[in-house]
Amino acid sequence: MAILSIRIIGDPVLRTVAEEVSEFGPELAKLVDDMHETMRDVRGAGLAAPQIGVNKRIFTYSVDGHDGHIINPVLVASDDFAPGEPEGCLSVPGLGYTVARHRWVRITGVDVHGKPLDMEATGTLAKCFQHETDHLNGKLYVDRLDGEDRKDALRAIRMSNYHEVTDETVAKRAKTVGSAFGGSFAAGAGAAQ
Ligand code: ZN
Repeated sequence: MAILSIRIIGDPVLRTVAEEVSEFGPELAKLVDDMHETMRDVRGAGLAAPQIGVNKRIFTYSVDGHDGHIINPVLVASDDFAPGEPEGCLSVPGLGYTVARHRWVRITGVDVHGKPLDMEATGTLAKCFQHETDHLNGKLYVDRLDGEDRKDALRAIRMSNYHEVTDETVAKRAKTVGSAFGGSFAAGAGAAQ
């Protein structure tokens, strides 16, 4: 297994709609293993393939004891929204904002062996599924902010000069952010994804 470096906002791969996975085999299994290991290393709640530079519809998650991965996910959400929780993103290190997310979701897709998956979720897991599915559609959580939060986030992103930091610094920074989020917010809330 290998720990992969995490792409940061400004990288075009994060703005590209990811492609459906059509080949299942050892290569895909290794990729999913590496994503799990990378997510654990940065103590993330979720990790989508574009975040490690792979333009495929895959994400891993680890929320409230639910650990897994899903390939080619299709999300259906309730019309109503859950109370906001601070959200962070490994690809937008150092920031955390409350985002409106649907209260309930059903997600279907397949696992690494091509076996169908069908899950329902509420709470933080539902938020994670929405955050990660957004990544597969080239969307970042900061796109969902409005008003002062949006202005604030865009200013912080501009000032961070993320594009100038080396991969090594980024990996280190992501690690710090992951643990800082775990400690500074209530358990289960605000973990970077
Ligand atoms: Zn994210």
